[in-house]
Amino acid sequence: MTLLKYNSKRNFEHTPEPSGKDGNNTGKLIFVVQRHHASHLHYDFRLELNGTLKSWAIPKGPSMNPKDKRLAMMVEDHPVDYATFEGDIPAGNYGAGHVDVWDHGTYEPVDEHGAPITPAAFSHDLQTGSIKFRMNGKHLKGDFALVNMKKDAKTWLLIKHKDKFATDEEYYSEDYAKKSSLAYTAERNKK
Ligand code: MN
Repeated sequence: MTLLKYNSKRNFEHTPEPSGKDGNNTGKLIFVVQRHHASHLHYDFRLELNGTLKSWAIPKGPSMNPKDKRLAMMVEDHPVDYATFEGDIPAGNYGAGHVDVWDHGTYEPVDEHGAPITPAAFSHDLQTGSIKFRMNGKHLKGDFALVNMKKDAKTWLLIKHKDKFATDEEYYSEDYAKKSSLAYTAERNKK
């Protein structure tokens, strides 16, 4: 049921994005971060949970520096199949522009002390507006938190925790974007 909003925003005869079907994965939970140059460039941060991808749009992209608190706007759940989507969403469609996978891998829900918890407990934490998880990706590694800002249900912050993977250098997700992503954006900026 949670994909109704996803499906209602899209006409699958006109966009190459996958139509929304609930997934059921019994293995490790996956995550994906997609670089999406729509009307504005942003990064879509997605965590698999309960057969869908919980999703946040992060204008500046994720950071491995614990000093950064990256604004993350919660958006509609996406189908698990979306995790491998890359390509062009044609003009006139919702989110028109270009999507590339920026990072993907698995993640583990953890509690405030960093101990593994069940997806059910993680779902509960999500409802309360504060989740913590351990990422195993190419760019994103170690522990992160997503915290709801209370001023509204959609406004969250993504924060890297201090651990052996964290950096104290400035972190720009664009530095790790694929050449093809950057070429698309350079071409768009010429117009
Ligand atoms: Mn997006």
